[in-house]
Amino acid sequence: MPANKKLLVLPGDGIGPEVMRQVRRVVDWMDKRRALRFEITEGLVGGAALDKHGVPLTDATMADAQATDAVLFGSVGGPKWDSLPFDKKPERGLLRLRKEMGLFANLRPALVFEELADASTLKREIIAGLDIMILRELTGGVYFGEPRGVTALPDGTKRAVDTQVYTTPEIERIVRVAFELARKRRNKVCSVEKANVMHTGVLWRETATRLHAAEYKDVELSHMYADNCAMQLVRNPKQFDVIVTDNLFGDLLSDLASMLTGSLGMLPSASLGAPDATGRRKALYEPIHGSAPDIAGKDIANPLAMLLSFAMMLRYSFDLADDADIVERAAKTVLAAGYRTADIMQPGMKKLSTTQMGDMLLKELDKLAA
Ligand code: NAD
Repeated sequence: MPANKKLLVLPGDGIGPEVMRQVRRVVDWMDKRRALRFEITEGLVGGAALDKHGVPLTDATMADAQATDAVLFGSVGGPKWDSLPFDKKPERGLLRLRKEMGLFANLRPALVFEELADASTLKREIIAGLDIMILRELTGGVYFGEPRGVTALPDGTKRAVDTQVYTTPEIERIVRVAFELARKRRNKVCSVEKANVMHTGVLWRETATRLHAAEYKDVELSHMYADNCAMQLVRNPKQFDVIVTDNLFGDLLSDLASMLTGSLGMLPSASLGAPDATGRRKALYEPIHGSAPDIAGKDIANPLAMLLSFAMMLRYSFDLADDADIVERAAKTVLAAGYRTADIMQPGMKKLSTTQMGDMLLKELDKLAA
C-alpha cells in the first residue's frame, strides 16, 4: 500500500527521544497490522538542532513542518542550553513552529484513567472517568494585543499596559473548532469569557451565539464566566465536554484542568491551524510535559503522554477514530493490569521502564487487534 500519511517527527531533547522511540514502535505496529502507511521524516529541534546547526530550528525543518500532514513533537530544553540568549534558546524552535504554522487552536484534554484516579488531589468520585477538552485560543488576546508596555510617569512612578483584543474572525475560527470537536465527542460546548465586565467577552459571547444559531444548532452550547468556570472545574468537572476560551483564561483553566488528573506524564496536547482549500489543518501534537532533564537517559520516563498525543493525531489530523481508540484502549488496559512507570507508581503495582512500557503496549495492541 502506498504511503498516505505524511508525518514529521521531532523528538527534541531530554526524554523527548526516549518517549518518541516507543511511539515509533507503535507506528511500525500500525504499518504492519492496520491499513495505515506513514511516510515519516525525522528532524532535529531545540538543543539537538542547536548542537548540530547552531539554531533551534533550521529553515529546512520549518519547510518540512509546513509541508507535512502533522508534526509529532517530543520536548525541548535542558540545563546545557539554559545560559543562551533568549532568541537562541531551544524553546524558540517550538515557538517558531507555532507561529509560522499559524497554530491558533490549542487542545488540551484532561483525561483521568479510572486506574489513576487516586493520583489526583481531588476525591476519586469527582474525577474518576473524567474526559474533558479545554480549547484555548493561542495567537491572540492580551498576550499579543497593542498597545503594550511600561512607561515612566512624571511623578517617578510607572504605568504598565496590556491590551485584550479580539476580532470577530478570530473568535469565529476558534469557536468553530470547538463545535467541530464537540461533534466528535459528547456534543456539548461551554464558551467561557467575562462578558459581565469585558467588551471582548461581550463580542465573544455574541459571536459564539451567532455561529451556533447559523451552523451548529445540533451541538449544545452554554456560556459561563471564567471565574465560575474555574470553580466548576474543581467542584464538578464532569459537567463539561468541550470548553472554549481565550488565550489568557485558557492558559489558567487548562493548567487547572490538567492538574485534576494528577500526572504530567499522561497528558497529551494538540495545536491546530486554519484549514487550507482541501480542509487540511496544519497540526502539531506534543505531550504537555517538558524534557525532564532530571530523569533523561535513565529509561524511566512515562511514554504515555507522547503515545496519547499520537492518538490525538490519528483522531484529529487523519480522522482515524478507530485507530485512535485502539491506542488509547491499549494504554488503559496496561494500566488496568497494574503496570506503571515510576512517576505513576502506586503500592502493589508493577514498575516498568520506558522500554518495558512500550513492550506491554505492543503486546496489548496485538491482543486488541486479534
Ligand atoms: P518537565 O515537564 O520537564 O518536568 C517536571 C517534572 O515532571 C520533573 O520532575 C520530571 O522528571 C517529571 N516528568 C515530566 N515528564 C515526565 C514523564 N513523561 N515521565 C516521568 N516524569 C516526567 O518541566 P521542567 O522541569 O519545568 O522543565 C524541564 C525543561 O523542559 C526546561 O528546559 C523547560 O524549558 C523545558 N520544557 C519544554 C516544554 C516543551 O518542549 N513543550 C514544556 C515544558 C518545559
